[in-house]
Formats: sequence, structure tokens, C-alpha cells
Amino acid sequence: MKVKLIFLGTGGSFSYYNRNYPMLVIEINDFYYIFDVGPGTDKALIRSGVKPSRIKAIFITHIHSDHIFGLPLMAINFYNLYNLNCRECINLYVPKWYIEDIDTLFTFGGHREKVIFKNVFFTNYDGSTPIYHDEYIDVYSMEMQHSIKSVAYRIVTKNNRIIIYTGDTRPNNRLLTFSENADILVHEATFPEDREEQAIRTGHSTTSQAIEDGLKAKVKILVLYHLGAQIFKNKEFNVNSMKVLVPDDYEVLVLH
Ligand SMILES: [Zn+2]
Repeated sequence: MKVKLIFLGTGGSFSYYNRNYPMLVIEINDFYYIFDVGPGTDKALIRSGVKPSRIKAIFITHIHSDHIFGLPLMAINFYNLYNLNCRECINLYVPKWYIEDIDTLFTFGGHREKVIFKNVFFTNYDGSTPIYHDEYIDVYSMEMQHSIKSVAYRIVTKNNRIIIYTGDTRPNNRLLTFSENADILVHEATFPEDREEQAIRTGHSTTSQAIEDGLKAKVKILVLYHLGAQIFKNKEFNVNSMKVLVPDDYEVLVLH
């Protein structure tokens, strides 16, 4: 079973032009799982050759604009570009807190009549039971600590590889438990280390807090994601035995 992470949006709510708003894609046997749909990532998906019929599910962490504003345009773009003759053919997993907001998003977006997504609202945010299950993966969700309610996702593949996607959050103990011994922790790092006060106040993490979380959770690979305007000297380095990656948009990580 071949597992790939495709980084289609490595930036956060603010970053340089080279980093798109957030989207993480996990590819398994030519099927795709999508995490967050920031503005513009619909075009990144098209550029990457991701066909709608191969998308198993989309998962949203929370409803801040940088994580969901790509959805209405993805609906209209995919509907027309691929001649989709479908309604509700792609499942969209959203925490139940946001039932009304997701509806408003599509109404406001003006493309309600062509919505290709089927909303699936889930209520388990403590990681105890999967919110999604198929022949390749189980997905769990855990409530994080952000400025609004938000979840992290834990993806467990059938060959027992574990990938965590934090979404937006400040460091917290639930995240450490959730990501313990993971193969890959994709951790938000919105601020540089000298802006910790601002990070805490806005429910985000700094680069060094993300690294600290990775070490505490004993993960093998830490991916710094949802980046702000930090400049990194190295795109790959080690902290003790943990490998740290700072991917650019469109980079791919193959899980061996
Ligand atoms: Zn946010």
C-alpha cells in the first residue's frame, strides 16, 4: 500500500505569495483524501491531476476563511470542468458545530444549485471512535484549542501508519496524546518563535512549539505547516532523532 502526502497549501492565513492557503492531500492507491480547502486550492488540485472520481472524502478542521473558502469554487470548477453529472457525489466531513455555517457558505458563494458535496456532520471529537472508515484508512478527530472550535485529524492506514493533521491550534495536551508515536505529525506553525504571546492569544503555535510537540509526542517526522512569513534556512533538518520537514507547495512525501 503506497501512501503519499501532497502538500498543496503550506501557508496559513498570512504568508508570502508562494504558499497557498491550507490543503493537505493524502493519496493511497490512486485515491485521495483532502484536508481543508483554502482559497485557490481547487486550482492546485486541478494542476495536480486529482480527478473528482478518485476523491474519497474531504475533511474540514474549522470554518475560518483560509480553511474553507475554496469549497464553493471547487464545487463550480469541478462540476463544469469534469462535466460532473452529480449532486452530492463527494462526502464533506465537518464537525457538527458548523452545520449552519457550511450551508451559508454555499448560499453566499452563489453555487448552491451545483453543489457536488454531501455534508456529513460528525460529533465525536475525543478520538474514541472513527468518524470515517473505508478499506484503506480510519480517521479520528480530536478537539483542539483555537480561537474558535477546531479539530485535528488522525489518519490510521490499514498497514498501521499514523498521520496527524493538527489544523489550527495552540499546543495542548490532547494533541500530544492524539499524536503519540505518529509516523508523521503535520503541525501548524503560524508564528516565528519570538511571537509566542501572539500565538497563544490567537490560538496558534510557533515554530519552536511545533518542534517541542513533535519531540514530546515522539513522532518520527514533523512537517511544519500553515506557515506564516518565517524564512527557513533549511527545508529539512533533525532535532534529536526526529526529522523536521518544511515543504514547499506541491511537494510530495512518500511514506515508506
Ligand atoms: Zn483558524
